[in-house]
Amino acid sequence: MKRVGIYCGASPGVRPDYIKAAAILGRTLAERGIAVVYGGGKVGMMGAVAEAALGAGGEVIGIIPQSLFDKELGFAEVSDLRVVDSMHERKAMIADLVDGFITLPGGLGTLDEFFEALTWAQLGFHLKPCGLLNVAHFFEPLLTMIDHMVVEEFMQQAHRDMIVVDNDPGALLDKFAMYRPPHADKVKWVMRKMNADFSTD
Ligand code: AMP
Repeated sequence: MKRVGIYCGASPGVRPDYIKAAAILGRTLAERGIAVVYGGGKVGMMGAVAEAALGAGGEVIGIIPQSLFDKELGFAEVSDLRVVDSMHERKAMIADLVDGFITLPGGLGTLDEFFEALTWAQLGFHLKPCGLLNVAHFFEPLLTMIDHMVVEEFMQQAHRDMIVVDNDPGALLDKFAMYRPPHADKVKWVMRKMNADFSTD
């Protein structure tokens, strides 16, 4: 694993645990020789991951739309800061560059990014692991909702099982190394179901 995409809040959150975990993740990635690829901001959780990775001698690639450069305070000191034209370009570039995705506590932008990576994995568009760093049980309500979707048969258990969860950055990365994407037949099941649902026959 050479590069990991980090999705997290532009805010620090209310608990010091959040920023602390972001910094530990950044440092752990650097120590393992894994580059951070993220949104390129200097604020909140984003800034904490990047700063810690840089501080530990790691490589950090930031990708930020011009329109957000001022708002999220583009982190000019990262190893490689790429200013792009749109949010779509940022997301596509992050997704292309990385071997896996880790989502930390954050807000709507963070969840948008997490679900994009996860839904693309579900459809088999990529085979990269999608992890949640479950700091202070932050993601429990989200996982409860996802389990509810499985119970109500809007989602397959195999796709729920794709989500790698841990509250420890090192353990999460160890799980990434063991990750096996779901069988192709599960992907096909989704495609078949979607085709059936949209069929006008
Ligand atoms: P947030 O979790 O809302 O603090 O946002 C975290 C990151 O997601 C920030 O870098 C935002 O620029 C980004 N973001 C916010 N809204 C979106 C969106 N609709 N699509 C993609 N990224 C977003």
